[in-house]
Amino acid sequence: MSQPGVPASGAAPTGLQARNGAASASGSPYANGPVQNALMSSQVSANQGYNSQLPGSYPHLIPAKTLNPVSGQSNYGGSQGSGQTFNRPPVASHPVTPSRHSGPVPRMPLPASQNPAATPMPSGSFLPGANLPPPLNWQYNYPSAGSQTNHCPRTSSQLTVSENTNLTTNHQYASSGDPSLQNSFTKSGITSDTNNGATMVHSSYDEIEGGGFLATPQLTNKNPKMSRSVGYSYPSLPPGYQNTTPPNATGIPSSSLNYPSGPQAFTQSPLGANHLTASMSGLSLHPEGLRVVNLLQERNMLPPTPLRPPVPNLHEDIQKLNCSPELFRCTLTSIPQTQALLNKAKLPLGLLLHPFKDLVQLPVVTSSTIVRCRSCRTYINPFVSFLDHRRWKCNLCYRVNDVPEEFMYNPLTRVYGEPHRRPEVQNATIEFMAPSEYMLRPPQPPVYLFVFDVSHNAVETGYLNSVCQSLLDNLDLLPGNTRTKIGFITFDSTIHFYSLQEGLSQPQMLIVSDIEDVFIPMPENLLVNLNESKELVQDLLKTLPQMFTKTLETQSALGPALQAAFKLMSPTGGRMSVFQTQLPTLGVGALKPREEPNQRSSAKEIHLTPSTDFYKKLALDCSGQQVAVDLFLLSGQYSDLASLGCISRYSAGSVYYYPSYHHQHNPVQVQKLQKELQRYLTRKIGFEAVMRIRCTKGLSIHTFHGNFFVRSTDLLSLPNVNPDAGYAVQMSVEESLTDTQLVSFQSALLYTSSKGERRIRVHTLCLPVVSTLNEVFLGADVQAISGLLANMAVDRSVTASLSDARDALVNAVIDSLSAYRASVLSNQQPGLMVPFSLRLFPLFVLALLKQKSFQTGTNARLDERIFAMCQVKNQPLVYLMLTTHPSLYRVDNLSDEGALSISDRTIPQPPLLQLSVEKLSRDGAFLMDAGSVLMLWIGKNCAQSFLTQVLGVQNYASIPQIMTDLPELDTPESARIIAFISWLRDQRPFFPVLYVIRDESPMKANFLQNMVEDRTESALSYYEFLLHIQQQVNK
Ligand SMILES: [Zn+2]
Repeated sequence: MSQPGVPASGAAPTGLQARNGAASASGSPYANGPVQNALMSSQVSANQGYNSQLPGSYPHLIPAKTLNPVSGQSNYGGSQGSGQTFNRPPVASHPVTPSRHSGPVPRMPLPASQNPAATPMPSGSFLPGANLPPPLNWQYNYPSAGSQTNHCPRTSSQLTVSENTNLTTNHQYASSGDPSLQNSFTKSGITSDTNNGATMVHSSYDEIEGGGFLATPQLTNKNPKMSRSVGYSYPSLPPGYQNTTPPNATGIPSSSLNYPSGPQAFTQSPLGANHLTASMSGLSLHPEGLRVVNLLQERNMLPPTPLRPPVPNLHEDIQKLNCSPELFRCTLTSIPQTQALLNKAKLPLGLLLHPFKDLVQLPVVTSSTIVRCRSCRTYINPFVSFLDHRRWKCNLCYRVNDVPEEFMYNPLTRVYGEPHRRPEVQNATIEFMAPSEYMLRPPQPPVYLFVFDVSHNAVETGYLNSVCQSLLDNLDLLPGNTRTKIGFITFDSTIHFYSLQEGLSQPQMLIVSDIEDVFIPMPENLLVNLNESKELVQDLLKTLPQMFTKTLETQSALGPALQAAFKLMSPTGGRMSVFQTQLPTLGVGALKPREEPNQRSSAKEIHLTPSTDFYKKLALDCSGQQVAVDLFLLSGQYSDLASLGCISRYSAGSVYYYPSYHHQHNPVQVQKLQKELQRYLTRKIGFEAVMRIRCTKGLSIHTFHGNFFVRSTDLLSLPNVNPDAGYAVQMSVEESLTDTQLVSFQSALLYTSSKGERRIRVHTLCLPVVSTLNEVFLGADVQAISGLLANMAVDRSVTASLSDARDALVNAVIDSLSAYRASVLSNQQPGLMVPFSLRLFPLFVLALLKQKSFQTGTNARLDERIFAMCQVKNQPLVYLMLTTHPSLYRVDNLSDEGALSISDRTIPQPPLLQLSVEKLSRDGAFLMDAGSVLMLWIGKNCAQSFLTQVLGVQNYASIPQIMTDLPELDTPESARIIAFISWLRDQRPFFPVLYVIRDESPMKANFLQNMVEDRTESALSYYEFLLHIQQQVNK
């Protein structure tokens, strides 16, 4: 966990907190090439109808909203020093920016029939038509109006107003099939935004974070007070210092104890060619990495220990500063120099991010000056170069910037004249306390609103007991402070509010039965200060589960309840947690059953798209008011998650799904909900957040995956950000990178902490540029590639069809391996030859085909499939991979050999096994870790000692039919397996339930379904799949 806020002990009395290291990066779009411009202009025209209807939310129509006048370069008037003046350059001076990045057209091109303007795509491929000269790369395909790259030009000569055009979102997932849908919610998002002060606030975040503007950090210097608003600053000068005589006009003394009097010898050698010598030739790779593998001969390529991401081929001095792959990963750790080279490799280029991950150590800096590039607004980072100690060159746009005076002092070493040793330049992951320029309104308080389904169906499940109890248990652990607010709404066919005003003797229930035009009774008493009204809140939580036990009300007015909740939260923003147990039946947002049993097994027309735009529209309204909606769906029946899920997807919320939840019949789900609620209620949360990803000039980001709304060209709006969410982006090479050997990616997440601090978390990743296809292949990160392909395939499933997405996955393997065979392999051996880096590519793609999102021929229910797709989009890569290709271990013979030792606990580390029944034996016990579920299969002839010492049963026959827990027995065997299972569980933010499976248990089918390498009724075995690939590759 990060420990921001605690001043570092010892030598650094400055605001610098824990030092450390993990970092991640992201890139910023640079607009530029002619192609892009052409796209932009076409887009603009296509979108004009849109924009003109959106007066309120577009900053360009709201004069004087932007902070950060550009100092020095172009001042747009206003007083710069006050921090209160919001100015922006006149709109006319900026070229119009493309705004819809995403829109209904996914990055995966639509079939020609839906999108005639687009490059024809062969169905079943992520690649545009191969027969079209010139072949476009798949990441970069749609010249149609709906699709665009996400950059805006950021050079000073070409300012862009990036924030105003983009109301469409990138979520191809939901928006695809129906363009009209998109239009309509765009409009509504805006109208609701218009007359509201809060809207103006959020719509300007773009400029604050530094979007299309030349905002400058100089502003900060002029107003040092502003930076003091938050604690622990490091003084811009050390106290002892400020009394000494300045050596020069800047006020910095030269004679202080620690500061050399003369100009310092500049020690940092610039990053550049000399740092790459070893790397460019591939010398840093392990020799095995250079090996070519014949997959038909080497059947088991699965390493016995978890697969590690490849290490970028950089000089160790650079690599040691690089961002942790847990936070920031690129599909290709060697970036192809040109788009042509990328096209040749037929591999997707993209980033996978886990930007708000809980970190053990996170350096936190409070400084009055946050040093950023004056051109592109990149935060200074370990990969910039210092030309001398007064100037640094941006690693994204190459602009030379001055080093601000304050930055010359290193608070860690207390030495002056070492800007390159500052924590900002030593850590690829860092967090800044943001000064007030990064706020457009005072940081919001933490606000938590709970919305409970209390219909007959909901009461039947008994979930209210669990949830209320969990809330009672964790009430004091909700992230927040004295400003924390809380409120509750319940609903069935009517909507019930609860007045919790301080001083009441008990909570007061207010029922609103007009669901056509919902209003909020007594708005001031419904969201109350948690501290002041804690007893009333506790009273309510204790009585709520009993209040509706006799209800006969079967209807569900979810839509109106959400509207009411939205109205209640609009003034502040915050987190809305919605618990729903059935298909909504009343009022706006009512849905009809769409699942047909016979659709389950077919890859043909199934309802993956929302049946109404209501939830998406409302989500956009929520996003505009900094409200995120988390949906907990507890339902045994079809509830149209494809529609309901939109409420979370576009408001940057999360979806939790507990199929067939029942307090008595399904104890496993009860346990899962309870554990996950505990995490949910107590985990870190960021409010009113935005995230921008920048990348080195020449690269461009064009598609985003995850739960958010793309507010302006590349600014992701995240009303809430949570530590368990992952994101992905696709990229292309817009301009040749031949003049550079390194590229960088930087993500910047600006958020309000639960303590009311405005913070910026920055991750920067640096990667080498290569010029040969072989190097591109050598650096391929097969997990990241598979993860990005999964995201693309979800979009494709929605915009085209499931079968098209499946074909595209298979073709991704065929195309890249064909390219490798044709262009890299010197001698054409028989077999299926793959670079070592991609030895698991066919296996992972086969696993994706068998994953719940994309499988066919199974009994997967529609909501379960949709949920799996939501997870693909929203989970960090590590969990996505676990869900896709589970880990299998033999556990009846666990030993301490090679075990981990973690705080006095010994954690066995059994080797990973291939996912095939061949690896099972009847005399053993095998644990399969599939991410959200653990399955312990016990062989019929399993050793008696295991049965008694681990399961606590006398013999095989006495293993209970349903067993979801292991007894804690006083035996070493029991201790080992329990330690192992707890360790697996502890590492993830969700709770994997455990099933003990006997040979004849009905759960055995689930266990076998995850045996990716085996043939199933409707899917090839791994070997058959390899033969199929080989056949296609050798064509
Ligand atoms: Zn720059």
